[in-house]
Amino acid sequence: MLRRKSNILVMKFGGTSVETPDKIRHAAERVVHARRGGRRIVVVVSAPGRMTDDLISLAKQIVPQPDQRELDMLLATGEQVGIALLTMAIKAKNVDAISLTGPQAGIAADDRHTRAHITGIRPNKLLQELKKGRVVIVAGFQGLNPREDIATLGRGGSDLTAVALAAVLKAERCDIFTDVRGIYTADPSLVPEARLLSHISYDEMLELASAGAQVMQPRSIEIAKKFSVPIRVSHALNPKDLGSWITAQGQEKHSMEEAVVTGVALDRNQIKVTLRDIPDRPGMAAELFSALGQAHINVDMIIQSAAKGNINDISFTISKEDLGPSQKILASVQRELRAGSVETDARVAKISIVGVGMKKHSGVAGKMFKVLADHRINIQMIATSEIKISCIIASDQGKNALKLLHQAFGLHRASLNSSV
Ligand code: ADP
Ligand code: ASP
Ligand code: MG
Repeated sequence: MLRRKSNILVMKFGGTSVETPDKIRHAAERVVHARRGGRRIVVVVSAPGRMTDDLISLAKQIVPQPDQRELDMLLATGEQVGIALLTMAIKAKNVDAISLTGPQAGIAADDRHTRAHITGIRPNKLLQELKKGRVVIVAGFQGLNPREDIATLGRGGSDLTAVALAAVLKAERCDIFTDVRGIYTADPSLVPEARLLSHISYDEMLELASAGAQVMQPRSIEIAKKFSVPIRVSHALNPKDLGSWITAQGQEKHSMEEAVVTGVALDRNQIKVTLRDIPDRPGMAAELFSALGQAHINVDMIIQSAAKGNINDISFTISKEDLGPSQKILASVQRELRAGSVETDARVAKISIVGVGMKKHSGVAGKMFKVLADHRINIQMIATSEIKISCIIASDQGKNALKLLHQAFGLHRASLNSSV
């Protein structure tokens, strides 16, 4: 889709980029610099530092499974701290600015508390403020649901706020400022030899993000792709960094030959659930997974063992924070399906390799499994898409597996990937 661009720039500062007064002043300096360059500026800010985590643990000290509406009410305050402080810092530099909450910025969300989707944006007030020449600073991660309650957009949701605003405002790009220099071939905090990618495609970034590379929230990439929003990810503290571009073509357009694997990712936020000894009959999987689906619980990998007699086991993975909300559902499905037991295992991790080059190369999965086997890493579950292969393994082997695959697919080298 061809977009007509405005002269609006959306700049998003993540939690680590506003965690101290000095960093807030630094972020303000970057905003002021961009504004003085003549563009209209919309800034999206996250909760400073680890405030969201702290608020969640505070709520859990009151009650282990907090009411979801009230939890959203609490979590949304973190981002309000961020916008107010950054706006003060910008105004102190003699640039007119105003902070807006998600609802004030016209962000409408659906009613899934703590994981709401954006359903639309009515940016009237935001545009009026821009017209007055002000920089507008919007709270990330929040919107107003159909009941006029505050809803939050899932962890990392400020990325979604920023990209959705960039889409609606037809911004020339969405700048994501964070604590790394861009998108790397692996999480640089786990694989020090990871390389910075100058370009990556929406499709690859979406797969990497849903495979656990938390640098971008997956839904923000879906929106960027749908509305062709170019994203640039760079370090908040290094204005000279070129960063990484997330666009439709990715590196295809920029390198002579295509890499087979572009990146690897580790997701340590998974939990494996197994329903044992279920009588094997048609409709049993439908019953289990529709019950979870109705409660908006995302199931990732699924494996059903071959039936012994007419009994079988079914295992699947969900994210750790979904375990609490799924417990009641699992207990009732267990009764209805007459399953023997429900077991959970948190000592698992998902390791994934991602690359558009996989479409044209065979043997990639074989190579991945061999690398794991050669190092006695047992694969518990496998899932594939056209450009991703994921395996569930023991969590204590996750970091090692990530490094081994990064090396085996030649991602540490500055030039091309090794062949399969
Ligand atoms: P912010 O607070 O700015 O939103 P996040 O913590 O959400 O920042 O995301 C940045 C972090 O993502 C980095 O510190 C890095 O450890 C992690 N990360 C995981 N995978 C990757 C990757 N492939 N490239 C870059 N960073 C990654
Ligand atoms: N503050 C929220 C979180 O920690 C949203 C974000 O940072 O993007 O998940
Ligand atoms: Mg983030």
